[in-house]
Amino acid sequence: MSKPSFDVLIIGGGVVGLSIMRELLSYTMTVGLLEKHDDVCSGVSKANSGIIHAGFDDNPGSLRARFAPQGSMDFKKLDDELHFGYREIGSLVLARTDSDTKILKALQARGRENGVSGLSILEKSELYRIEPALQENFIAALYAKNSGIVSPYEFGIALAENCVKNGAYIGLDQAVKAIEYKSGVYHVQTETDTFTSKLLINTAGLHADSISRMLGINTPQIHPRKGSYIVFNRGTGSLVNHVLFPIPQETGKGVLVTPTFHGNLMIGPNAIDIDSKEDVSTTEEEIEDLLSKAERIVTNIPYTMAIKTFAGLRPKIAGGDFSLREAQEGFFECSGIASPGLTSAPAIARYVCSHFVALHMKLEKNHTFDPYRAPYSQPQYKRTFLSPKQANEESKIPISESDCMICRCEQIRRSTIIHALDAGLSLRTPEALARRTRAGFGFCQGNFCRTRVETIIHEYHTSKKNSFSPEKDTTFQQNSSRVPASFIRKQNR
Ligand SMILES: Cc1cc2nc3c(=O)[nH]c(=O)nc-3n(C[C@H](O)[C@H](O)[C@H](O)COP(=O)(O)OP(=O)(O)OC[C@H]3O[C@@H](n4cnc5c(N)ncnc54)[C@H](O)[C@@H]3O)c2cc1C
Repeated sequence: MSKPSFDVLIIGGGVVGLSIMRELLSYTMTVGLLEKHDDVCSGVSKANSGIIHAGFDDNPGSLRARFAPQGSMDFKKLDDELHFGYREIGSLVLARTDSDTKILKALQARGRENGVSGLSILEKSELYRIEPALQENFIAALYAKNSGIVSPYEFGIALAENCVKNGAYIGLDQAVKAIEYKSGVYHVQTETDTFTSKLLINTAGLHADSISRMLGINTPQIHPRKGSYIVFNRGTGSLVNHVLFPIPQETGKGVLVTPTFHGNLMIGPNAIDIDSKEDVSTTEEEIEDLLSKAERIVTNIPYTMAIKTFAGLRPKIAGGDFSLREAQEGFFECSGIASPGLTSAPAIARYVCSHFVALHMKLEKNHTFDPYRAPYSQPQYKRTFLSPKQANEESKIPISESDCMICRCEQIRRSTIIHALDAGLSLRTPEALARRTRAGFGFCQGNFCRTRVETIIHEYHTSKKNSFSPEKDTTFQQNSSRVPASFIRKQNR
């Protein structure tokens, strides 16, 4: 089936593709995005540390060093507009020895060269005053005031919902299979449709190399580097007040200890080069290794409160920097977007707009662009929770009533689930709802609420189908080729 033609079509719905889409929508043009999964942010953007880095880690002159410091400036404003949740809590790189302290000074100097403000070296007394749970033997730390934490997939979801609100097309379950360039137009084929566009942007993360090769472009191969994590129950994040890093190593920033945006304690990631771009399994050995590294940083790790492990894959290319280029006329490739790609996404979006799209078409401001997106609910770390007994009582309210407590652990009511279903993308799985509402992300990991959420999704789509009007509901129309309510159990969050 042939679909409408776009000025710009983006392949890949992670934070980079979605940031580019939102940037382009602030100009008058038609923009589409194709994502192979049943939700946005299901690739690298789903499973990472969620740190907005200050920008002192990378060598001056690299794209990473140029973009990351901008991120720490961008995220406050973005959060004011999109309400995905961002906390500027600051980070500490911890030194044990005099030679470690020399490394801190080198990082500070590098940060200054990269244009990072708010960097200072803390002495031992100050360090233990602001971070009492630290192990005893640290002597100094590099403090980066501008580092922050976000929930990465909620950032992507907020971008996507805002894009849909501003009239963009997001096609879920649209894996790109083939691309042809004919008479100045790109023809992009998925299993069910063919899309056409004047310009094409490849933000396919781990698979950006395969997408470029569909056009016969010789592009560096992407190698996955796995990073595993362990997450603890809500509330445990208060053990630490900052993102805590060891001294960096050759393979990266090392195993960190941090609160997540919602207030869970999180430990990870390691760095293991693997062959498969799909393998996000974690092993007991890896988790033990993470814990032993974290034990060298903090005391009182709440072992019995561990609720899940997960892994993400870094898309690595030779050289290590981001690769951003117009690989052929009208086709732009974003490749090797590993860390700090989340931090850099807004700056990458501006770069792609000014160094690619603006060279092919006149950019005119879209005066109807609405940058705002309403929040779902208060973040978990700010909420007051009911006692487990009361939450259980409220879970007995009929499931059809908006007050019904659907998820007892995270205390999420039906009204929040419906808000997420109403927000613009056609969502079909409990995982998609969990990423938006946190129903299923608590101590029982969805044992209690999963079937309840499935029921709500099923009833929602059934009633919507009955009152369905194709003219009114473009998102539903665009995704309606899917089998409804495909309740597939996934191991990964
Ligand atoms: C362990 C780990 C820790 C990290 N920590 C941080 C951090 O703390 N801070 C930070 O700034 N960065 C961090 N990063 C990096 C950051 O997560 C990535 O740079 C960023 O998420 C990349 O986003 P993306 O949009 O390029 O890729 P993705 O999120 O992978 O998006 C690409 C999308 O393309 C889709 N796709 C692929 N092939 C096709 C196809 N044929 N058709 C249609 N769609 C397709 C995929 O399904 C995917 O959704 C970390 C990464 C990892 C793995």
